[in-house]
Amino acid sequence: MTAHVKPKALDNFQARDFRMLIDGLWTEGSGNAIERVAPGHGIVVSRYPAGTKADAERAIAAARKAFDNGPWPNMTGAERSNILLKAADLIAARADELAFLDCIESGKPISQAKGELGGAADIWRYAAALARDLHGESYNTLGQGTLGVVLREAIGVVSIITPWNFPFLIVSQKLPFALAAGCTTVVKPSELTSGSTLVLGEILIEAGVPAGVVNILTGIGPEVGAPMTTHPDVDMVSFTGSTGVGRLTMANAAQTLKKVSLELGGKNPQIVFPDANLDEFIDAAVFGAYFNAGECCNAGSRLILHKSIAADVTERIAELAKKVKVGDPLDPTTQVGAIITPQHLEKIGSYVDGATKAGASVALGGGALDLGLGQFMAPTILSGVLPEMTVAREEVFGPVLSVLTFETTEEAIRIANAIDYGLSAGVWSRDFDTCLTIGRKVRAGTVWMNTFMDGASELPFGGYRQSGLGRELGRHAVEDYTETKTLNMHMGARTGWWMPR
Ligand code: NDP
Repeated sequence: MTAHVKPKALDNFQARDFRMLIDGLWTEGSGNAIERVAPGHGIVVSRYPAGTKADAERAIAAARKAFDNGPWPNMTGAERSNILLKAADLIAARADELAFLDCIESGKPISQAKGELGGAADIWRYAAALARDLHGESYNTLGQGTLGVVLREAIGVVSIITPWNFPFLIVSQKLPFALAAGCTTVVKPSELTSGSTLVLGEILIEAGVPAGVVNILTGIGPEVGAPMTTHPDVDMVSFTGSTGVGRLTMANAAQTLKKVSLELGGKNPQIVFPDANLDEFIDAAVFGAYFNAGECCNAGSRLILHKSIAADVTERIAELAKKVKVGDPLDPTTQVGAIITPQHLEKIGSYVDGATKAGASVALGGGALDLGLGQFMAPTILSGVLPEMTVAREEVFGPVLSVLTFETTEEAIRIANAIDYGLSAGVWSRDFDTCLTIGRKVRAGTVWMNTFMDGASELPFGGYRQSGLGRELGRHAVEDYTETKTLNMHMGARTGWWMPR
């Protein structure tokens, strides 16, 4: 059994007790407490109320009241925008505290957590800008007596459910856009990483968001999350998480025909041609596979290498991957942190075992690393993976890279598309035609060309097929949280109904 060594940075650390936010008040809720053990340090770092169905119902009622009675949906775009900008400033001011919470609760490296906070503050600013630009359309071409006006109205109460891998970043891809549109919300972060979302609640109160507009529930999905997907007073559900729970969310929401937005899993191919800048690709491949310990929907977990370069490139990736620093998430030089739970580490290991039984070879790593801290996994490369193997088709969600090969462009496209997911993909070649052909034929929401995992608040993000439904970010992101209403207006006397005058 691993002996946990408390790092120096946690010498004076006291576990933090959090409460839920319902109708502007911090509450203990009606359930027991959940203790979060830091995956990279093995000590309790946070305690949360285990919310219940009754808590979810109170939060939904508060959000409904705040929507129906205002003032939030009735404010001007400029007023909401100013509050979102203030929130962005406060996020930036408390970035170190938020990054620390995400780091110790999720096990991600502190340097990476700080980077995510910078990205999140930018998204809040972008959403603030869009709040002022939300508008509909008018039609002056329908005849002299008719004017058509198409309004964009806030959709109403939105349930926001998020996973553990990017706790603050993912809530920031949803909440500011829902708020910009004038919606009210009930938010449920993962039970494993709720801390930063609860601090966001403090920030939003300070920024001037009225009571009931943002309610934050803690607890486990089937208990507190499920009512958020079924309750008739909820108008929309925005969910990020696994494809399995996404499917369940959609089925639950179907009972009352709610709008659903889903960001789900991925098994993202990177197709590499012999004429690519291989030095750049090899660096990007290591980053794409091991960033966030591979616990990333966008992980470049499936390399599809041209046969003529496969052996050499795999060896060079392995050489570089050996230098990746796996260790204490609080060490600023760490590149790969801990695995979220011991159960998840076991699941990753079982994918590696299954792959070797199916005929793949371990070119690097392959198992857990005992660092005397929490639970860690060695950066792993599996070579000789065939498209039909489970490890080539399912999301491992760990630092495991599968290497497949191709001979023709058509074969590469066929392998890339031969799975249920379609979140993102990459192509590496110096030839413009090759990049564009792959870009147009691969069925994925984002295709990177000679780069990987770059993103921007302006660029829509989401998946084809079982990777999700709808898009986040980009200039239409606020519209996702609206209904369209047509005003068909008549001017002057009208003749020509059924009955002659
Ligand atoms: P889960 O699907 O297990 O959980 C996601 C959220 O849903 C959590 O808050 C969870 O609560 C909640 N939940 C669980 N059961 C229910 C239910 N019955 N009703 C309502 N809510 C429920 O995913 P993970 O947290 O394990 O996250 C990892 C997954 O997320 C990966 O598969 C990954 O690919 C995907 N993901 C996708 C992204 C994308 O944008 N495409 C981005 C990031 C992650 P709790 O866990 O607290 O019980």
